[in-house]
Amino acid sequence: VENKKGKVDVTPIANFFRNEIKEQITKIGGKPRMVAFLTTDDQGALDYSKWTKIACNKDGIEFILKRIERVDLEDAIIEANQDDDVHGIMVYYPVFGGMLDSYLQDVISPEKDVEGLSTTNRFNLYHNIRYLDKEMTKKCVIPCTPLAIVKIIEQLGIYRENVELGQALVGKEITIINRSEIVGRPLAAMLANDGAIVYSIDINGIIMFEAGKRYGTIKMVETKITKEEAMLKSQVLILGVPSPNYKVNSDLIKEGTVVINFAGCLNVDEDIDSKTILVPTIGKVTIAMLERNLMRLYNNQRLKKTL
Ligand code: NAD
Repeated sequence: VENKKGKVDVTPIANFFRNEIKEQITKIGGKPRMVAFLTTDDQGALDYSKWTKIACNKDGIEFILKRIERVDLEDAIIEANQDDDVHGIMVYYPVFGGMLDSYLQDVISPEKDVEGLSTTNRFNLYHNIRYLDKEMTKKCVIPCTPLAIVKIIEQLGIYRENVELGQALVGKEITIINRSEIVGRPLAAMLANDGAIVYSIDINGIIMFEAGKRYGTIKMVETKITKEEAMLKSQVLILGVPSPNYKVNSDLIKEGTVVINFAGCLNVDEDIDSKTILVPTIGKVTIAMLERNLMRLYNNQRLKKTL
């Protein structure tokens, strides 16, 4: 890591990936299309959709925001699944909340699941299955927020280079406060897969994630370590508690830690950047990964047509 302290703006990281996508689209000459369904007036979702649309349009992707009633969402998803001109589908959650939202996540066809949140895509991630089909023509997509965080960690120089698969994070300890199926658990699995010891903390306690014996397998391990001990041991601390009142005590974060905050509100005091590297927001890279996932789906679908 070059700069040992201070705030990191992730815009150059996002631009690096977006430029790659732009070039790819110019080369192919097609028009990848993503449809996003919004069923609420949530300002956060509205802002996120606005930024996504601006980025997509600049990069040659058509982003269509559809505002519909939540009771009509299932039918709308099915229609988009069947529409050959739609390559990726996303939904702004929560819609109903709870298990009904999990059900809706799985109504989206895994082949159009641009956020990588369907059970199929998550199962494949947890079990190191790289393709959706037996013929190995359709690559799976990885949930875009965890993917964005991995890319940021890579760009900050925490991954060791020129090592064997699964070795790049050996010797690193990482704490993640959030174990949702959208971000925290897929992220813990990905980092453990690269060799890190991950302390995954949620409101009910801590579970450790580490690499299994065979590459691509992950073990969840019960642990007696406390949250405080885990944070003090970690070189990277990742925060995603969706509450403005949640702030980690600065004394629990050691000097030089890389702190990455993906929650909508900052989970640490802002002046923590005087002793750590602080990435206060990651949204721009998440949008870049959403575009990257869309390109993967677009290419999968293009390939299907030419087979
Ligand atoms: P979620 O509600 O599904 O999960 C929240 C997690 O935080 C759970 O694991 C919960 O147990 C844990 N948690 C809550 N309170 C806690 C506490 N006091 N101590 C320890 N753990 C606690 O939310 P989510 O979908 O994972 O999203 C989390 C946040 O990330 C939200 O603010 C969301 O807006 C944001 N988000 C950002 C991006 C991005 O790209 N920047 C993408 C997705 C989500």
